[in-house]
Amino acid sequence: MALLSTTDFPFIIEKCDGFSHGRIDLHSHTHCSDGSLSPQTLIDRAVNYQIAVLAITDHDTLTGFHIADDYIVEKNIPLKLISGIEISTTWQGFEIHIVGLNFDVKNPVLQQLITGQQLAREERAITIGEKLAKCGFPEAYNDAKQLAGAGSITRAHFAKVLYQQGHVATLQKAFDQYLGKKGRNTQPAFVKPNWCSIEHAVEVIHAAGGTAVMAHPIRYDLSAKWLRRLIVHFKASKGDGLEVVLPQMNPQQRQTMLNYCLEYDLHASTGSDFHHPNKWSDLGRNLILPDGAIPIWALWS
Ligand code: AMP
Ligand code: MN
Ligand code: MN
Ligand code: MN
Repeated sequence: MALLSTTDFPFIIEKCDGFSHGRIDLHSHTHCSDGSLSPQTLIDRAVNYQIAVLAITDHDTLTGFHIADDYIVEKNIPLKLISGIEISTTWQGFEIHIVGLNFDVKNPVLQQLITGQQLAREERAITIGEKLAKCGFPEAYNDAKQLAGAGSITRAHFAKVLYQQGHVATLQKAFDQYLGKKGRNTQPAFVKPNWCSIEHAVEVIHAAGGTAVMAHPIRYDLSAKWLRRLIVHFKASKGDGLEVVLPQMNPQQRQTMLNYCLEYDLHASTGSDFHHPNKWSDLGRNLILPDGAIPIWALWS
């Protein structure tokens, strides 16, 4: 697959359903990780919203990307699909997500990283299952595994199982009561993950010819001081950009992220982090980069 270049980009913003839709969305999920739509349905939805450029960035897997890519070729769909992946990393005890974009999907170093991350996911899922069994849910692992199918197993699958079986009132409560961690406070089924480091994720994405973006910097529950430390570390690790725009971010938060980009010479990315249709966000919606941002795709020439 040829990597995308800047000449491929129509920088058009269009109104759709009364919402402002950017035509570029660089962060989305399918049911090959914890999204709810199949890759084909996701592509159809993107076409419906007149999205011109889409990245599927499933957690630690390229399966959804490959299925979508085949579907686009088979149906001759007018959409540029960018290779993407969201790699889980750990830094100072925090789980930080690094999005890789526009890389060679056949790169062997990347394949090796994915294999390692999948193994870490499976091992963690088994331990989560053991802990949930002790909480009174002996079938949690089997049920989560069945839900994940051949895709990446995530805590979101366990959350869904607990929710669907009526053990928690919301998905968020599954994290708050069982699966999550807040500061030093860990819940009974929290398992310390064995992800790769930020440096390694960036290095591998670069080895595959891609661009490394820090996903949703506002969502790590970090103080301003720690967020700055993280960004400094990401920059020192040769990271390329920050997600400056996510649908739920207010203008003040976007401006803060843009300021970090300008201060640390980082490019700006934009994406919905779409997992499933809901009231608050959708593919391409409310994703316009603020004035003064240097888009991540400026690196793709
Ligand atoms: P994992 O990568 O296995 O740790 O799964 C984390 C996924 O669960 C994230 O990518 C989110 O899509 C989802 N999630 C939903 N709510 C939360 C939450 N409160 N904390 C962490 N992850 C959440
Ligand atoms: Mn997710
Ligand atoms: Mn994420
Ligand atoms: Mn994501």
